[in-house]
Amino acid sequence: MTDRPLLLEVKNLHTKFFLDEGTVHAVDGADFSLYRGQTLGVVGESGCGKSVTARSILRIVPRPGRITDGQIVYHRPPGRHGSNGNGNGAAETIDLTNVDERGPLIRSIRGAEISMVFQEPMTSLSPVHTVGSQIMEAILLHQEVSNEEARQQAIDVLDHVGMPQPRRTVDRYPHELSGGMRQRAMIAMALSCRPSLLIADEPTTALDVTTEAQILQLMRNLQDELGMAIMFITHNLGVIAQMTRDVIVMYLGKVVESGNVDELFYDAKHPYTQALLRSIPRVGRKSRQRLESISGTVPDPYNVPTGCPFHPRCTQFMKGVCDQQDPPLLEVSEGHHARCHLYT
Ligand code: SF4
Repeated sequence: MTDRPLLLEVKNLHTKFFLDEGTVHAVDGADFSLYRGQTLGVVGESGCGKSVTARSILRIVPRPGRITDGQIVYHRPPGRHGSNGNGNGAAETIDLTNVDERGPLIRSIRGAEISMVFQEPMTSLSPVHTVGSQIMEAILLHQEVSNEEARQQAIDVLDHVGMPQPRRTVDRYPHELSGGMRQRAMIAMALSCRPSLLIADEPTTALDVTTEAQILQLMRNLQDELGMAIMFITHNLGVIAQMTRDVIVMYLGKVVESGNVDELFYDAKHPYTQALLRSIPRVGRKSRQRLESISGTVPDPYNVPTGCPFHPRCTQFMKGVCDQQDPPLLEVSEGHHARCHLYT
């Protein structure tokens, strides 16, 4: 992807939650980059820091969480902004960790240049406002247009995401729509200002298989058309294989492996990635062969193991090494990295 301009660099990001029970290190030194137009898959079990990483980028980490260290460098493309959102701005570099999370700069970026689609639309769509008024609000916040123009843009973007009868749907409430239509409405809202980066956090997990396939196809088409980057967060490796070319695998707030999809599926290096792959159904697997599950569970977040955080669950654990030292992320072949003592 290095032939494309950089869009976002996450460097040594730490996000912690300070609770009465103790401190949760939700993101623990994550490092990765995204290029313009790239689709990056982010995989891992629940509680491994995927969603908190996304929320850190948008600066919407809920209290009592906060970013404690690291950088999130946004390489703002030219023409994205300018006074009054007129799109005349020059390219610039912004460290989002230094930005006031309620200030005008992040508000000009969030929802317009970097937007997010969540797993359950009902948690982010207001039940008491029509779909159209919510999309119009996003448009009016970031563009200097009249109400009539914003309404027309809302209808156009609903049409664009394949919403049936967009002129009628624009005046309907979220509870009047099916799950698939609600997710299309959320995507329409996220795309209404043509973002440079769309963060999709498990966007199809709550949908049936047919609707999931339609939404994934829609996102692929829109990406080709709009040229935006997508950060696709999921625990579903099948979705990753369909949607992305580059993948990072996260475990307990750290990136433990990164590479392209082929390397990860056919030559996974980290024992955690290997275990994730053994736990998914495959064509060709003998019908009576049982799927493997990863032994143990994600450790208590207040009590993270010493050394490699995966060591209590790892089948290749080396006593005296893995429980003592946290391995660095090392290049195991060109562009393919793993955080494991097997390669140090
Ligand atoms: Fe397993 Fe050791 Fe590698 Fe951790 S460092 S994944 S415990 S082999």
